[in-house]
Amino acid sequence: MEESRYSRQLHCTANFKQAALSDAVVLIAGMGGLGTSVSTALVAAGCGTLILCDPDTIALSNLNRQFLYKETDIGKKKVTVAVKRLKAINGDPDFIAIDGRFNDQPLPVSIKPQLLLDCLDNLEGRIELIDYAAKNNIPLVHGAVDGFMGQLSVFIPGESACPVCSLSGDMDQNDAPIPSLGACVTVLAGLQATESIKFFTNSGDLCINKFMFFDGLSTTLDAMILERDHNCIACSKYLSHGL
Ligand SMILES: [Zn+2]
Repeated sequence: MEESRYSRQLHCTANFKQAALSDAVVLIAGMGGLGTSVSTALVAAGCGTLILCDPDTIALSNLNRQFLYKETDIGKKKVTVAVKRLKAINGDPDFIAIDGRFNDQPLPVSIKPQLLLDCLDNLEGRIELIDYAAKNNIPLVHGAVDGFMGQLSVFIPGESACPVCSLSGDMDQNDAPIPSLGACVTVLAGLQATESIKFFTNSGDLCINKFMFFDGLSTTLDAMILERDHNCIACSKYLSHGL
């Protein structure tokens, strides 16, 4: 077998669609702990185009979990540094850096994301991203962390429940920083990247209509059925109730 950059992954399934991955266009909302690890995994795997979105600069307290950044990057824009580091990992993918939230500036007309990565850390931004997914009919991979815990779900507009459907109107969010441990963030980011690669290569079954909960303290991964709320504040606006 000829050795190539991707030769070790081409036989992960009987018909692994590397070409589909090379044509993939993903938008990563949030280049914090989840976003930096998800983007690293997707770039290494040969994802075609990555749109990276984050309005923040790099701070010292980011470095315990945002492994793309170094001490000398403190004060620099996250998306600028991330593109530079990711290009050094793999020169194949194309990058678009949005120095802002995902909807702060229009994308080039020729660029249409095929998958959204929810790597955010706040409910308001998450609801906006799910709304964007539903409006534009773009699937979304949700990930979230809280200390040793994390959760994963995939939202297919018109077909499945979104991560906010489960909140049933309980929209209160504590403004305190979410406890975050780099080791556990990479577990969830790895699951998000895995779902993304499965989506593009048509491999296995996606984590649809369920939450997958990771508990790093008890070392368990449990599923909870996620039911659609037809009055969901995030996903119901653009869908008929008959779906
Ligand atoms: Zn919903």
